[in-house]
Amino acid sequence: MRIVAIREATVPIGAAMRNAVISFQTMTASALAVVTDHMVDGAPLIGYAFDSIGRYGKGGLLRERFIPRLLAAPPESLQGADGLIDPELCWRVVMTDEKDGGHGERSGAVGLLDAALWDLSAKARGQPLWRTLAERYATTDAGPLIDSYGSCGHFQSGGGAGNLRDEVARARDLGYRTVKIKVDGRDLRGDAQRIEAALSALPAAELAIDANGKADVADVGWMNMAAGYGLAWIEEPASPLDYAGLAHLAAHCEVPVATGENLFSWDDARNLLRYGGLRPARDRIQVDMLLAYGIPEYRRILAGFEGAGWPRSAFWPHAGHLFAAHVVAGLGLGSHEAAPDASRIYGGFWDGTTVEAGQVRIPDIPGAGYEAKANLYGVLRELAQAPVRSH
Ligand code: MG
Repeated sequence: MRIVAIREATVPIGAAMRNAVISFQTMTASALAVVTDHMVDGAPLIGYAFDSIGRYGKGGLLRERFIPRLLAAPPESLQGADGLIDPELCWRVVMTDEKDGGHGERSGAVGLLDAALWDLSAKARGQPLWRTLAERYATTDAGPLIDSYGSCGHFQSGGGAGNLRDEVARARDLGYRTVKIKVDGRDLRGDAQRIEAALSALPAAELAIDANGKADVADVGWMNMAAGYGLAWIEEPASPLDYAGLAHLAAHCEVPVATGENLFSWDDARNLLRYGGLRPARDRIQVDMLLAYGIPEYRRILAGFEGAGWPRSAFWPHAGHLFAAHVVAGLGLGSHEAAPDASRIYGGFWDGTTVEAGQVRIPDIPGAGYEAKANLYGVLRELAQAPVRSH
C-alpha cells in the first residue's frame, strides 16, 4: 500500500456565536484526504480527517511542510510488517527535523495527518477505528459504548436567559445528561444568571460551565460563586498556560476542575501536571489529540499522567469530533464532548446515531466513519474527487 496523494482544503465553518474569548464568525477548519493505491471494492482506499473546531485551518503548514515531507519518504519506510501504511512510522517521518518546544500550530497540522492515517489504517483492516486502537495498544476496557456530554450555550446576539434554558433543554431532550454552557468568567452577576437559567432545565450536578480561561486568578470571588452551585465541573477558569493561577483557583474549588484543551504537547501537559494544582480523583484533562500531534503524543500524555496516579477516566478530550469519539472508545477514556447540533459539519455524530442516557454507541463502520455523516462527508468527498496531484 502506497500513498499517492494527500489533499487539504481549508473550509469556512463560521457561526454567529461567541465564547468568553473569540467569535466563531470567521472560523475555518482543514479537511484532509490521504489517497492510496490500495483498492477496496474497485475504489482507492482513502483516509480522512477533519479539524477540531476553534483553532482555524492548517493548510499552510500542511501544504508547505508536512505533506511534502511524508510524500518524499520511501514508501516502504511507511509500511508495517503487514505491508499496510503504519501511522506511527508515518508520524516519525512527519516529525523529522522538528525541534522540541515552540509547539505553535504545527501540532494541529501533524494531528490531522495522524488522524487521517489512523482512519486509513482502520479501513484497511475493515475495523472501526476504536477497535484498531484497542488492539494496537491492548486497551483492556475498550468498547463502542461511550459516555458523551452536550456542549452548547454559547453567547449569541439577542439570546437571553430563555434561549439559554431552551438550548440546554433541547440537549437534554436529545439524550445528553450532562450539558456544558459558556460563561464570561469575570461577570459574577451575569454568570450567576446564566447558571440559574440553565439550572431551570437540569440539576446542578449535570451542568458544567466553561470560562475559556477568563476568570481573574487574583480574585477567587468568581470561583467561589461558581463552585457554590455544586456543578458537574468548572472548565478552564485560568488562562491555559497560567499553571500557578490555575492552582490558586483550584485550591478554592471543591467541584471538579477541567482544563487542557489548549495544551498541544506533553511538554505543556507535564507543566499542568506539575504545577496546575489539579487532583486525580477530582479533575478532568481535556487535551484534544487532534490539536496535539495525534495519537503518539496523546499516548505520551496519558502515560505521564498515569504514572502520576491519574486514571484514564479523567481524560475527557475537547471538541467533539468523530476521531475523538473513537479514541475515547479505543483507549478507554472518560467521556466525549459533543456539539448537539448535528446540522453543523462538526456537530452530532454519525447519521442516525442517538444519545441515550448520556451514552453513544459507535456504529460498526470501518475507520472513523466520516462517510456516515452526510454533511461532513460532503466536504471530504470533494477532496477525494479532486484531480490527483502530488499534494
Ligand atoms: Mg472549553
